[in-house]
Amino acid sequence: MSTDDLKKKAKVITKRLADNYPDAKCHLDFKSPFELLVSTVLAAQCTDVRVNMTMTPLYKSKYKSPKDILKDGIENFRNNIKSINFFNNKAKAILSLCEVLEKEHKGKVPGTMDELTALPGVGRKSASVILGNCFGKEDVVIVDTHLKRVSTKLGLIENDNPDKIEAELKTIIPEKDQYHFSMRIGEHGRLVCNAKKPLCEECFLNDICPSSKI
Ligand code: SF4
Repeated sequence: MSTDDLKKKAKVITKRLADNYPDAKCHLDFKSPFELLVSTVLAAQCTDVRVNMTMTPLYKSKYKSPKDILKDGIENFRNNIKSINFFNNKAKAILSLCEVLEKEHKGKVPGTMDELTALPGVGRKSASVILGNCFGKEDVVIVDTHLKRVSTKLGLIENDNPDKIEAELKTIIPEKDQYHFSMRIGEHGRLVCNAKKPLCEECFLNDICPSSKI
């Protein structure tokens, strides 16, 4: 399909996603960029529900800034996040992250892609999550497992590599729509086009989806 045709198709998909999931947002609970950054790191290979259950009370009672985690120390922090997959490595990663935030950013989460991806353990996906959800950036494509799967099924992308997927989608989706597209296609992946059993019969994209089972 030519780039122009892909742009036309992406436009139709973007519109339908907006109509069906106008309020789609991040499933991690947070009250500050710091909380979302920590929870995003913890959510790797773990469910958002589990991370929220563990972290929401902790943010409320003790971890409001990098300093709070550093002061509490690795042992206590590790014990407090024990219910999260790979808590040991993640605790170490978050302590390093807090050190850098404290030393180089006065304890604040920076608001640019370059600064975020320079932080330990923060890749483009996590940086895009922060930029879109906390800093109001619209020109970010959040390449998570749902976006990757559903965009592939819909024939919008050909690549498997996250950086290439990001580039492909940035070429065919206008900047102002990229963040919302990411949130909404993620929602579609959770609710309709799920990995094990896509619900093609009730999918509002089935007439234009090459992977439709009907
Ligand atoms: S038609 Fe089926 S495969 Fe295509 S997006 Fe919808 S649920 Fe997914």
